[in-house]
Amino acid sequence: MSSSSLVRAAGAVLLLLLFASAAFAARELSAPSRHYTKAASRRVDTVVIHYLSGINVDRSRWSDPNLCLEILRRYRVSAHYLIDRAGAVYTLVDERNIAWHAGGSIMPAPDNRRGVNRFSIGIELIATHTSGFTDAQYTALATLVRGIKSRHPIRAIVGHDQISGRRAVQLGLRKDVKPDPGPRFDWPRFRGMVE
Ligand SMILES: [Zn+2]
Repeated sequence: MSSSSLVRAAGAVLLLLLFASAAFAARELSAPSRHYTKAASRRVDTVVIHYLSGINVDRSRWSDPNLCLEILRRYRVSAHYLIDRAGAVYTLVDERNIAWHAGGSIMPAPDNRRGVNRFSIGIELIATHTSGFTDAQYTALATLVRGIKSRHPIRAIVGHDQISGRRAVQLGLRKDVKPDPGPRFDWPRFRGMVE
C-alpha cells in the first residue's frame, strides 16, 4: 500500500468513526429550570410538542440553544426537554414535576381536559415557523418519546397548536393562538418512528 493510499484509508476510518459517534451518541445535557411546579405524584398520559427559537431576539443566533434557554428563563416558562438542531437533548425539568410550557390549553375532543401542563410532558424543538426540523431532531425526539412511553402510560401526543389554538382562545383560556410546532412538523414521519 502506498503512503498516499494509507493516508486515504486512515482518513476514511476517521470519518467513519465521526459518523458513528454522531449517530449513536445522542448528547444529553442538563439545564435545570427554576420555573416549574413541584408535584408530589401526578399521572402523565400526554406529550406536547413545541418549537422555539431566538429569531425575535437575535436573528443571527436564532438556533443557539443557550439563547433559547435564556428566553425561557426571561419569560419564566419551561419545558421538560429542549432539543437543539444537532439533536442534543437538554433536560430542564424532572418528569415528575409540572413544567410551564402549554399555558391556557384544552385537549382535543372528546378528551377536553383543561390545564394540560398538569398531566403532560413538554418538549421544545429549536425551529422557526419556516425552518423545518432536522433529521437529528426527529431521531432524538423519537428516542426521547420512546423512553417517555416506557415510563408513563402515554395515550396522546399533541402539538401545542392543537391544545392552545382558536378553541382555547374562544373559551377564554388564553389570549393568543399558538402556532407551534406548525405545518412543517412531519407528524406521519414522527409517529412512524415512535409506534
Ligand atoms: Zn409552544
